Amino acid sequence: MHPLEHVLSDDAAPDFALRVQADQLRLLFRQSFPAVYISVVVALVVCQTLWTEVRHELLLGWLFLLCLCSLVRYTLFRLYWQRKPQGMQILAWEKPYALTLFATSLIWGLGILWFVSESTPLYRLVEFLFLLGMSAGAFSHYSARRYMVMGAMTSVLLPTTIWFLFCGQSMEVSLSIAALLFVCVLIQAGNAMSAAQAENLKLTYYLEAARHKAEQMAHTDELTGLENRRAFFDQGQALASYCERNRRPLSVVMIDADNFKQINDRFGHAVGDAVLRHLAGHMKARRRKSDICGRLGGEEFAMLLPDTSLGEAMLLAERLCQACATLPMSVEGEAVLSTVSIGVASEGYSIEYLLSCADEALYQAKAAGRNRVVAWTNRDIIAS
Ligand code: GH3
Ligand code: MG
Ligand code: MG
Repeated sequence: MHPLEHVLSDDAAPDFALRVQADQLRLLFRQSFPAVYISVVVALVVCQTLWTEVRHELLLGWLFLLCLCSLVRYTLFRLYWQRKPQGMQILAWEKPYALTLFATSLIWGLGILWFVSESTPLYRLVEFLFLLGMSAGAFSHYSARRYMVMGAMTSVLLPTTIWFLFCGQSMEVSLSIAALLFVCVLIQAGNAMSAAQAENLKLTYYLEAARHKAEQMAHTDELTGLENRRAFFDQGQALASYCERNRRPLSVVMIDADNFKQINDRFGHAVGDAVLRHLAGHMKARRRKSDICGRLGGEEFAMLLPDTSLGEAMLLAERLCQACATLPMSVEGEAVLSTVSIGVASEGYSIEYLLSCADEALYQAKAAGRNRVVAWTNRDIIAS
């Protein structure tokens, strides 16, 4: 288990192994493009060095094959940059990447083996040095994916190393043993490097997920999943400014559970909590995407409705009030009826003022017998 796993719930921990794989592949595409032309440039130097030693048609045939393979790899990189695969889509690019890489490495490994078999000991040494250089290059370019480093290094180095080991010449045998040791050291270093990198990536994902969760918790009411009081005011302010700028109506609906204390006293606090979640469910079912639904505290909720006139807000409030009264929650077969009283206001664009008006209307709804909706109207103005 990762040391940071405890900060996340099970469902928040995504499949990190696949994400590591995708990010390592993305890293490969970013860091290994120079290897495509470096391979061709080094091949040209090899041909120039061996021009007097190895048959020309052999050198040119090898160079042609290598250029062809490099062209395919170049096209693959171009396509990758054009299509820019997002997220896990990149995993589909792994196979073509690995196949073209191993093909290039094998052309190197088998080509030099062929040249070695036709060369004098001095040139064999030179050819072998080129191979060592290429395999060290493979290590630096492909270390993000362990099997690619190993595949590339062994395809480049192994054919000639094996040939040296069994050719019976003492210098070649020593060189092949040195090469094997070199490969072992690189493989060990490669393993440590790619494990450290995978660990690093995982740590980044855990921190990302933990930050996301903390942000979520900062604005969500844990019991109901609605916005908490602070988020209601923060988001409400932005929404009110938007409505004011665009001269759109803005309404608020304030909801308070009736006689909730009695529910707690009769059924217990846990059932009381479940009833609050149930009421929140009724609100969620009626909200539009642009509405803000919040739990202001205790058994008191509010909905801020942009682009909604007082009449439209009243309609929504009445439906909500009716739903709460007719669709109660049931505990072990027994209905736990919890009606609500609702105050509605649509007056200006100050959240505090709107809420105080809706609160006044809510108070009137309670005084009039509960389980009802009352709209706030400015009687002083109407009267004058
Ligand atoms: P009214 O119809 O006048 O609103 O009566 P009421 O009983 O609903 O109002 P009152 O303010 O007297 O009591 C509210 C109760 O809500 C008291 C409190 O214990 C309970 N309450 C507040 N927050 C929670 C909560 O998170 N869970 C539970 N189960 N109860 C809560
Ligand atoms: Mg109440
Ligand atoms: Mg209350």
